[in-house]
Amino acid sequence: MNVANTENTDSIIVIGGGPAGLMAADVLSAAGHPVVIYDRMPSPGRKFLMAGRGGLNITHSEPLDTFLGRYRKAAPWLAPVIEKFSPAAMRDFCHLLGQETFTGSSGRVFPKSFKTSPLLRAWLRRLAAANVSTRLRHTFLGWDKGGAALFRDAQGKTATVRAAATIIALGGASWPKLGSDGSWTTALADKNIALAPLRPANCGFLTGWDNDIGARYAGEPLKSIALDFAGHHYPGECIITETGLEGGVIYAASADIRDTIEANDTATVHIDLKPGVTAEKLAERLAASPRKQSLSNTLRKGPRLRAPSIALLRQHELPADPLSLAKLIKHCPVTFTGIRPIERAISSAGGIALDSLNEHLMLKAMPGVFAAGEMLDWEAPTGGYLLQACFATGAAAARGALHWLDQNKRRLA
Ligand SMILES: Cc1cc2nc3c(=O)[nH]c(=O)nc-3n(C[C@H](O)[C@H](O)[C@H](O)COP(=O)(O)OP(=O)(O)OC[C@H]3O[C@@H](n4cnc5c(N)ncnc54)[C@H](O)[C@@H]3O)c2cc1C
Repeated sequence: MNVANTENTDSIIVIGGGPAGLMAADVLSAAGHPVVIYDRMPSPGRKFLMAGRGGLNITHSEPLDTFLGRYRKAAPWLAPVIEKFSPAAMRDFCHLLGQETFTGSSGRVFPKSFKTSPLLRAWLRRLAAANVSTRLRHTFLGWDKGGAALFRDAQGKTATVRAAATIIALGGASWPKLGSDGSWTTALADKNIALAPLRPANCGFLTGWDNDIGARYAGEPLKSIALDFAGHHYPGECIITETGLEGGVIYAASADIRDTIEANDTATVHIDLKPGVTAEKLAERLAASPRKQSLSNTLRKGPRLRAPSIALLRQHELPADPLSLAKLIKHCPVTFTGIRPIERAISSAGGIALDSLNEHLMLKAMPGVFAAGEMLDWEAPTGGYLLQACFATGAAAARGALHWLDQNKRRLA
């Protein structure tokens, strides 16, 4: 490959201008370092902006222990990272950017505007004022033999950059049109860095509906339900899609459902369509219905089920006996036979294996290169946990780079 020019810079380069990269740039610039952010997109933070479309859930207000438990397998190594940039620090940071936050009834925390754009605008202004510059429309291709970062610009010209230190924050592989497509895995694998495969997280699942439920009810919510899977109980709601279910309780259980499908080809969850009412009470209401009434009307008027819930029940043979029917309403099996593609998932699991990193989030095989955000091997449900970990690892990678630069300076002095 012909490389047009090679640049040596005293700046620290941050590759990837999502929340993790921006946070890294913030910490580095606050410590007085010039920073250049590279991103392939025409503007930074595209997925961050998308996250604000349905209400930007920035973090969660639950006690820290419970909060950290949401990261499951990754909790032991993420805990000290998040303790240094906690949910309280996240709120303070939003306030610093002029965005007041509030806690919703679910305990989730949002900016008052609900949106990303005012927060991102204020953040980019703050970074520009702190000697952070951006090189957009630059696609990161990997490293050359000498360890310089290789980019291709919008005109197709390639250039290498040798920087004081590098932070990579290239995201996962969901919603690739927003910039993160996981193509960085090739560059890291070339450097023998251990990676866990990128897999969909907070994703929908396929049921193989055997009647027209998907066609008729796609987009309809199943409200006030509860889902049981793998010993966990998830109250909430979900949405019917043409091919299955997604959203809310499905995302909450998605890591276990995905793992089960990968291991056994299918996963059966149970949905309680009337969580507030016992089976006995439901059976009484069903038994009290007029005999001549159609079954659909009985289900609509007795237990007050909406049409999408009735359609879900009708995936099964409906028992005539009221108690058996009530039990089906309380424990309706839904078998998933596939996982929706990663492109449609909210986030991804997998990425740079913890073993490849030291305690400062530096790649052991590449001194001076630090990694942050969704490209690291952790996953979490929706609820503000994703952004919290991206911000916290961005800050940690930056602290790691500062520590490493400081140590190098001492060595040379
Ligand atoms: C629809 C939706 C809603 C969401 N809602 C929420 C929410 O409410 N709360 C929450 O906590 N999380 C939410 N998330 C998840 C959250 O947005 C992500 O976890 C977060 O953006 C990941 O941050 P990141 O910095 O690691 O990566 P990203 O935000 O993906 O940023 C990575 C950056 O790297 C750039 N890049 C990638 N590859 C290259 C390359 N080869 N060369 C140059 N640049 C490259 C990309 O263009 C991008 O700008 C949502 C996600 C989606 C899709």
